[in-house]
Amino acid sequence: MNWDAKLVNESFPWVEKQIVHKPMLAPWQRAFRDSLLDVGVSPFNGFTYDHIFGTKVGGTIYDRFGRRHTAAELLATGNPQKLTVLIYATVQRVIFDTSGKRPKTVGVVFKDEHGNQHQALLADKPESEVIMSCGAIGTPQMLMLSGVGPRAELEKMKIPVVLENEFVGKGMSDNPMNAIFVPSNRRVQQSLIQTVGITKLGVYIEASSGYGQSQDSIHCHHGIMSAEIGQLSTIPPKQRTPEKIEAYIKGKKDLPYEAFRGGFILEKIANPISTGHISLRTTNVDENPSITFNYFSHPYDLRRCVEGIRVAIKVAQSQHFVNYTQCDKPTVEKVLNMSAKANVNLVPRHPNDTVSLEQFCKDTVITIWHYHGGCHVGKVVDTKYKVLGVDRLRVVDGSIFTESPGTNPQATVMMMGRYMGVKILRERLGSAAGM
Ligand SMILES: Cc1cc2nc3c(=O)[nH]c(=O)nc-3n(C[C@H](O)[C@H](O)[C@H](O)COP(=O)(O)OP(=O)(O)OC[C@H]3O[C@@H](n4cnc5c(N)ncnc54)[C@H](O)[C@@H]3O)c2cc1C
Repeated sequence: MNWDAKLVNESFPWVEKQIVHKPMLAPWQRAFRDSLLDVGVSPFNGFTYDHIFGTKVGGTIYDRFGRRHTAAELLATGNPQKLTVLIYATVQRVIFDTSGKRPKTVGVVFKDEHGNQHQALLADKPESEVIMSCGAIGTPQMLMLSGVGPRAELEKMKIPVVLENEFVGKGMSDNPMNAIFVPSNRRVQQSLIQTVGITKLGVYIEASSGYGQSQDSIHCHHGIMSAEIGQLSTIPPKQRTPEKIEAYIKGKKDLPYEAFRGGFILEKIANPISTGHISLRTTNVDENPSITFNYFSHPYDLRRCVEGIRVAIKVAQSQHFVNYTQCDKPTVEKVLNMSAKANVNLVPRHPNDTVSLEQFCKDTVITIWHYHGGCHVGKVVDTKYKVLGVDRLRVVDGSIFTESPGTNPQATVMMMGRYMGVKILRERLGSAAGM
């Protein structure tokens, strides 16, 4: 990433001080912490933002009153006299002047909440630029909609080619997530991820709990395992037929309530080697592009998933969890069987899900939404994240990552926002930037 370590180390605390909090550890997370240590994911590193092997408690953007603090709050440190924020503006494309040797960014076309189109044009100064931060899916899509991307892809959509770059939308990665469900005989408080195990196997182990508040609640919404927030995406759109959706809805009715009375232990593969790509389905920015991540196409990713599930099962069987959940120590078969039934994606199940951990991994894979890539450094942007081959256009978001940083990426993405802001100001103003 060509990062300046000193500025990185100043930028993380800048974010932390404003919006990151120490979590109040939920009982499920305490039992999980003790069990991780019990099965050898050690040492215990306490509450820390550092990414180090062992078990730790990380920071959260929820404060002690349960209020969420987002990156938007970081804008409060800006100078409001010099900042205009349009919150219901959807950029449709970047406009280029193609009359010179290199395409030059001129501005953007955007529409407001009423669908009316506008243009925002750059001042004619050398330091003026457009900075794209539409995210790992949005930025490659926006570049292609604006005419920067693989020629065949652009021509297929009849988009005039501004600059051919075959790497736009390539090298898309998503860290596969697989989970096992751990039932409980005791009422479990809801908890999001607070404790994490950073293993030397190349997998991170995390946990979440409390989605079975009532018999009904599991049918409509169960937190990070809900299809409603994206898990249906684990099968390609064309295969998302009405029959499959119907089967999914029915499957949700048959969910084993027992599984949701506790919580789940999930594993996320660090740095997946399997990659995929994005392609446009339409030229409408409101339509999602088609994305393939090719989960587990590399055998090393599958091997790590299997290792991770083994650790997760040991954690579930640890005496700390058994004491906490007031259940008998679950057998491997019971854990896998219940998890395969409770897991909601549309991938068809196989009878050997409970025998072959490889099959279990493939059939129950879902996303943890840490997808990244599509505009890699050296391929689509240079080391200052300026788009190669065009002037006055930069990308600052997860699309430039070749790996998702940390156990969970958003701290680093926010750090990068601050980092690049300071870098750009220093470049433009030198010591007058005052930072
Ligand atoms: C459901 C979910 C849960 C997650 N949980 C966690 C977690 O617990 N911890 C963690 O660390 N990470 C988590 N992540 C991952 C984290 O949110 C992302 O890695 C991070 O937000 C990526 O930052 P980004 O700046 O690359 O993109 P984004 O945060 O996606 O920002 C892109 C922005 O661009 C806007 N945009 C896109 N296209 C246009 C357009 N055409 N015009 C105008 N605006 C546009 C989008 O509305 C969005 O605001 C989660 C993600 C999801 C989806």
